[in-house]
Amino acid sequence: MNLKEEIYRYALSHKKIDTHCHHMGHVFFEEIGLKDIFGSSYIAWCHRPFQTDAQRRELFENICDRSYFLWLERALRQMYGIAEPLNADTWDKFDRAVREADRKDRNFSRLRSLCGYEHIVQDCYWEYGDNLGDGQLFTPAFRINIFLNGFDREFVDQDRCCITKYFPEPVRDIEEYVARLRAIIQEKHKAGCVALKCAIAYERGLDFYAADAKAAEIALRTDKASLTKKNRDDFQSYIFYRLCDIAAEEDMPFQIHTGLGQIEKTRALCLTKAVKAHPATKFVLFHLSFPYVDDVISLAHNFDNVYPDICWVPLLSVHKAKETLNSLLDTVNADKLCWGCDTWTAEESYGAVLAVSHVLAEALSERIGEGFMSLERAKKVCDKILYENAKKLYRL
Ligand SMILES: [Zn+2]
Repeated sequence: MNLKEEIYRYALSHKKIDTHCHHMGHVFFEEIGLKDIFGSSYIAWCHRPFQTDAQRRELFENICDRSYFLWLERALRQMYGIAEPLNADTWDKFDRAVREADRKDRNFSRLRSLCGYEHIVQDCYWEYGDNLGDGQLFTPAFRINIFLNGFDREFVDQDRCCITKYFPEPVRDIEEYVARLRAIIQEKHKAGCVALKCAIAYERGLDFYAADAKAAEIALRTDKASLTKKNRDDFQSYIFYRLCDIAAEEDMPFQIHTGLGQIEKTRALCLTKAVKAHPATKFVLFHLSFPYVDDVISLAHNFDNVYPDICWVPLLSVHKAKETLNSLLDTVNADKLCWGCDTWTAEESYGAVLAVSHVLAEALSERIGEGFMSLERAKKVCDKILYENAKKLYRL
């Protein structure tokens, strides 16, 4: 067995803490077939439909080089022992295997035994902080998106969430708003949530600033039609800063989606002011601000409270992930890096495990070849990224 193979196998079979996941269990589908996996996975983001045979032929012809597809297909073939490639002709065969496996696994057994997860920091955007009925495996993050829009009691966000779910009664002022927000987070923390999660980059930029409480309160007191962009920005920046404070008070890492999203103003450097203003808050920067990975490298290099999380990146681009992992090891302490699958189903999650194992094997064997690292150290780095760092960071 060569070095690369040895590291790959070591990483693949390692017990893991998955720091970011949207596993959907059977919340949305009673039985999961291949179409449901595609529809909930990143394949749905490839801008091609896959409902009919003709559409699938077009789809496979054009997405078969993409990292999203490569890892999902590899996972499906390994899990179901199918030698043929996944394409329009073999669609039904794969679909039958997926359905049969789903009928047998109603208790997340494949996440435990196949993926090797001891814990999963679950992000249920459809029910903030939910653990899918398995609090041992799923140690949730509590999503905070709607609280940034809580000045508008009629606003329903893209995840169908509305502030009235958390604040049934209107608040008197900004102080009461923050007090109620703090109380909810304390309660969720006690109930088992281990982190806060912000995915607002899908709705607005990350360029939050130090806003004044009085300025923030204007949004609460003004009717929607008369609100200015400045009023909204003041409110959202003020609440984001208070969330950073609460995360520090509770010692809950603050996971933040960076990079893609709405793309405008969502690269990680937009968070620089917030990071500097909150040295006691642990900022976990998701997705390495892909494709602006240098943003995360520079922030993590300069600030001890920044934790790069490579979740999603091996699935987005296996080559960018490999290159960036080595740049991170060059510049950031090894106890800062974590990994999560960022997927919805067991198949896709196993694909993410295959992807990160491949990335670790490629990047670390390269370092060994250059004389920068021993095999023993490479394994130690796998221990840290796949398990130890997350265990410490999220106090699991
Ligand atoms: Zn995610």
